[in-house]
Amino acid sequence: MEFNYLNDEDLLYYSRHILLPSIGIEGQQKLNSSEVTIFGLGGLGNLLITYIASSGIKKINLVDFDIVEESNLQRQINFSKKDIGLLKVDVIENYISSRLTDIDIKKYSKKITSSPQAEDIISNSDIVIDGTDNFDVRKIINKACYIKNKTLIVGAVEGYTGQILTITSNNSPCYECTYNDLLDNRSCSETGVLAPLVGMVSSMLAIECINIITTSKSSFNNKLLIIDGLNFSINEIQTSKNPKCKICSN
Ligand SMILES: [Zn+2]
Repeated sequence: MEFNYLNDEDLLYYSRHILLPSIGIEGQQKLNSSEVTIFGLGGLGNLLITYIASSGIKKINLVDFDIVEESNLQRQINFSKKDIGLLKVDVIENYISSRLTDIDIKKYSKKITSSPQAEDIISNSDIVIDGTDNFDVRKIINKACYIKNKTLIVGAVEGYTGQILTITSNNSPCYECTYNDLLDNRSCSETGVLAPLVGMVSSMLAIECINIITTSKSSFNNKLLIIDGLNFSINEIQTSKNPKCKICSN
């Protein structure tokens, strides 16, 4: 990691994070020097990018091939009616650039169809966050992170249920180990989705990302967190390596 030192403006801008014992000046410098890739600029990606960028992470790769649609606006809170028909990566870049000046955003608006394509995008990233809503793409991102040994944080929301999983390295149980038996590949266009739950899960993804960068520790490692937004309960499931996993078993 190439270290970016803080100037006077940074010290003021990030002062409320710098005051936190787990962040401090050193943690803030780590954030300012980190690179993060976000796959998916739907409901999760919208709030996530806002918190990731405003936490001081300066290098961000945004990956989404979609355009903004009317049905997105209920939960994809950085978009408005004037953005309908525009590429999500373009709208988000403009939004973030209007809030922060010295930020390096790389945009990828091609559909992800192969692991090498994802590997190229994440090759310099410290953390990869998956907020997509497509099981095939999730599997590709999982494979690319396994091959490149990247920390992958996965978030999902469907109906009243939110899920978070962190795969800290290629020694951890991977996404396919965890989801192979739990397969329910419906999208929110079929099941509906509770908008504030999307905000809650994206905030938790951002917290996990900030904590891993500043403390080198994951809150969810080897645990799948399941949030029930109707009854407001949070449960953890211990994950384990599947010896027959076609991605991470030998
Ligand atoms: Zn696996």
